[in-house]
Amino acid sequence: MPDTALVIGAGITGISAACSLRRDGWRVTVIDRVAPGDPAQTSFGNAGLLARSAVVPVSEPGLWARMPRMLLDPSSPLFLRYAYLPRLLPWLLPFLRNSTPARAARITAQIAELTCDSVDRHQSLAAGTPAAKYLRTGDYAYVYRSRADYQSNARTNALKAAQGYAPDYLDRAALEKRFPDLGPAYGFAALYPDHGWITDPGAYVAALARHFTSNGGRFLQGEIATVTAGPRPRAILANGESLEAAKIILATGAWSNPLARPNGQTARVESERGYHLSMHDANITPAHPFMVADAQFVVTPMNGFLRAAGIVEFGGLQAPASQAPFDLLKKQLKQVFPTLTFARVEKWMGHRPTLPDSLPAIGESPDAPNIIHAYGGQHIGLTIGPRLGAMVAEIARGRWNSDTGAYRVGRRGFHPAPDSG
Ligand SMILES: Cc1cc2nc3c(=O)[nH]c(=O)nc-3n(C[C@H](O)[C@H](O)[C@H](O)COP(=O)(O)OP(=O)(O)OC[C@H]3O[C@@H](n4cnc5c(N)ncnc54)[C@H](O)[C@@H]3O)c2cc1C
Repeated sequence: MPDTALVIGAGITGISAACSLRRDGWRVTVIDRVAPGDPAQTSFGNAGLLARSAVVPVSEPGLWARMPRMLLDPSSPLFLRYAYLPRLLPWLLPFLRNSTPARAARITAQIAELTCDSVDRHQSLAAGTPAAKYLRTGDYAYVYRSRADYQSNARTNALKAAQGYAPDYLDRAALEKRFPDLGPAYGFAALYPDHGWITDPGAYVAALARHFTSNGGRFLQGEIATVTAGPRPRAILANGESLEAAKIILATGAWSNPLARPNGQTARVESERGYHLSMHDANITPAHPFMVADAQFVVTPMNGFLRAAGIVEFGGLQAPASQAPFDLLKKQLKQVFPTLTFARVEKWMGHRPTLPDSLPAIGESPDAPNIIHAYGGQHIGLTIGPRLGAMVAEIARGRWNSDTGAYRVGRRGFHPAPDSG
């Protein structure tokens, strides 16, 4: 029987879970240290893409061999704050071990299971709510300098094709028709139909949260310091107050490690720091989002602005944003749209929550079944948010057994203990 549920975290994962639980009849409270849609959330600043074809993890085959060169190349979209390396290694080593062809193929299939119906899931979550106006459907393109560049990603392309994502191809003439302002450096694209995007991800989360509270849900602002297990688990706030519920849901994104301690061991979520530039009143509005493949950022037509978002930087949760990723985005954007002008630009850095196997943690705590984990959406956390939210509601009702399977909490590689391989 639905009872009380406390969701910690009001990003896309937490708000989706809260809406699903509420629609299932639970009395739901969401708590977050910031308001839903706040720039401090990763859900605020992403590229807005509902990337159902983005099934290949960053730890794609061969990454371990390319990584050193990428880190030394100032034009590569991979950055590392070297002082952070000792803290990163316990996560980085198993992450790289997952880039063998066999593991990458398995992980790709497991990601594809979560992304396949993402546009439908967003449509049903947002239907009839103030969030629906931010949802668009359309094509998604990967834009390359040349067909040869596309073909050099043969292994990644094959992994996608194995999941049913075989693109149409656009040559320079077709690209010019679609994106007339595209710079001459780009001559080829792989086009995937039936995608979607959110034209203001922060406003979308805020609108879903408004729907949740107008539907009887409660939102509290506060910081949770610890969570204690039990038949009715408790969340202890930093100010000493506590909240009790029949189910507590951890939807705390990149900040999950201190709260997520299945079997007394901390989880191993790392921040893949990402950057965006949002250009307001831009003179160019592309027909639909596209990924600039060599620079690894997505350009998305938003509600009144154009956003370029991407880059991976390892540097943890505490360090401030670095300047180099912004400079790189700016420089590469000039090649993408040489004639781009805009009235003002907003800069942002956020934290993608990523486990070493690039799969989310979704399920009951092995030692505390009334604590449900829901984080680790990495580069596709917006895409799969409603899916994870629906899974939380299934688990809370006991309709889905999360003790086994690829996304289970406490699986191998989940904790910082040495990974046996
Ligand atoms: C540059 C960039 C581009 C991206 N582009 C895309 C894209 O196009 N498509 C896509 O699908 N995904 C994309 N992503 C990834 C996506 O944004 C994230 O995976 C997703 O937003 C994660 O959502 P979340 O709800 O799990 O985490 P968040 O949105 O970070 O929410 C977690 C919340 O938990 C709260 N919290 C944490 N700890 C506590 C605590 N102790 N007490 C109280 N509150 C707490 C935080 O304040 C925060 O509000 C991108 C990410 C980046 C950085």
